[in-house]
Amino acid sequence: MAAVYLNIGMSFDPMGESYEILPEEQIIPQTHEYLFHFLDADLSRLEAYAKNYLSCLDSGEEADKTVLQRIREELVALHPFFRFCPANVTDIINRTLASYIVGHFPSDPERQKTAMASVFDTKNLLLPDVATWLEDARGSESEWIFADLQVLQERIRQWVFLALDNTNLDLAHLTGAQRNALYCLVYGDEYTPLLESNVQKNMQLPYSARAMRIGMDFDEDHKQAILRGCGQMQKDPAVTPDCILELIREAEKMTESCEMHTYVVQSLEDLLKYEVYNMTQAEKRIKRCKNCGRYFVIDKSNVEYCDRIAAGETKPCSEIGKSRTYEQKIAKGGTAMALYRKAYKTHFARIRSGTMTREQFEAWKDEATDKRQKVESGILDMDEYATWLKK
Ligand SMILES: [Zn+2]
Repeated sequence: MAAVYLNIGMSFDPMGESYEILPEEQIIPQTHEYLFHFLDADLSRLEAYAKNYLSCLDSGEEADKTVLQRIREELVALHPFFRFCPANVTDIINRTLASYIVGHFPSDPERQKTAMASVFDTKNLLLPDVATWLEDARGSESEWIFADLQVLQERIRQWVFLALDNTNLDLAHLTGAQRNALYCLVYGDEYTPLLESNVQKNMQLPYSARAMRIGMDFDEDHKQAILRGCGQMQKDPAVTPDCILELIREAEKMTESCEMHTYVVQSLEDLLKYEVYNMTQAEKRIKRCKNCGRYFVIDKSNVEYCDRIAAGETKPCSEIGKSRTYEQKIAKGGTAMALYRKAYKTHFARIRSGTMTREQFEAWKDEATDKRQKVESGILDMDEYATWLKK
């Protein structure tokens, strides 16, 4: 399988520090933790900082750059897309500010320019300048300053709910294709998550083989001999020079693929679409944990609790869930002891009716007691115990 990378670097800053190509799993882990965090994130603090920061436009005071720093921190905490590539923070901030300013001073280009010059973010940025941001901006009419981010969060949430979330049982029984169809029926016209992605395919030696290649590059004579050897082989394929045989033996050992696919995803929106599309195609399913309420990937349909340790807890939700389910059963009157007592009576009656010997009964009793203790300590499931007792 090819190694998959994501290029999240800014296209306008290819030589700067903010150009990032990451292994896919670094920004899209198997747990999809970053996606879930984004879906549930509260954007109101970011919005409050933005309102505060832009209040200078009407008051005529100088922009408070410490508030700009808070905005940057909020974005970095929102998704690692902004942490791995700081120019992405600058990009979204400036786009948002420009869109707000154009909407705020709709027919006054001079005012737009001075306003933008007083607030725009210059960190991690070589280019472009104020005019470039304003050119791209379409005036926002929303109450919200980070309106695009709000809309993005809401749209991805709706898509994830209809296509992946198995908490609702009527949705859970549909296949992946049927769920996508349902999504199209509900939202198709309003929001079709278009993903345009450019993929670069190339080859790269696996790490295990790189040292050898570097050695060859340093030894110019050896490298020339190899290239000559290749030329000779093409003329006379019956003979393989020793220096090539050596490389063939090296290649034989390799189990990793040299193929490398790099997807270009240069906005948070594209990254999220890329992630959710791949999840729907891989038939992944998720649920909200019955303890902490957060999304998690499920491998079986009957899982209800995640493996996270929720704030203020010492045990993961899955363990808390087991004992909680047991407590709920007790509340309904179904303790393991009550089940055991009932089964004890019916089994004891079998000795008198002659369908069970005393020895068989004693063996059954030992096993039933042992299993009962396992249920009480949460090792065995209550339903399994009940089924076993009925045998
Ligand atoms: Zn949980």
